[in-house]
Amino acid sequence: MSAQNEVGGELPAGIFGAPLFDRESIVWWRGLERNEMTVQACDRCAVLRWPARALCNRCWSFECTWTAVSGTGTVVSWVTSRHPFGPWRHVPYTTALVRLTEQDDILIPATYLSNDDTLTIGSPVVASYLDTSSLRPTGAHTPDGGPEPTTVLAWRAAEI
Ligand SMILES: [Zn+2]
Repeated sequence: MSAQNEVGGELPAGIFGAPLFDRESIVWWRGLERNEMTVQACDRCAVLRWPARALCNRCWSFECTWTAVSGTGTVVSWVTSRHPFGPWRHVPYTTALVRLTEQDDILIPATYLSNDDTLTIGSPVVASYLDTSSLRPTGAHTPDGGPEPTTVLAWRAAEI
């Protein structure tokens, strides 16, 4: 998907922050590049964890397997920013906090692309995967030796 929203057309450069990858999260970012949402599943107790981290916070295991999840959830909260915090951030934009379908305690914030006039707590949403490579330079070194990830997650209203 190109960098477009569903209500205003082409997104201006800078509406998304650059992926902040590290040794643990690079697998998350690579999944987004495949238009897939993946999270860590503990190999000992099966609890899912996001954001990525080395240790399971339930059983303290270091072992995990990256697992594809549905990319669906429900809105828990949202905020619409109307104040420009810098020239790189165009307003207004809405960030939705979404409870992942697979596990109640996984809450993932991302830019909300649909019309936020219809947002309510519990609104069903689906993941969108936005290639932002044309919006900023790349070239950073990554823990996996690949190119810098440029796909970011966004949420949009689910078709009901
Ligand atoms: Zn565990």
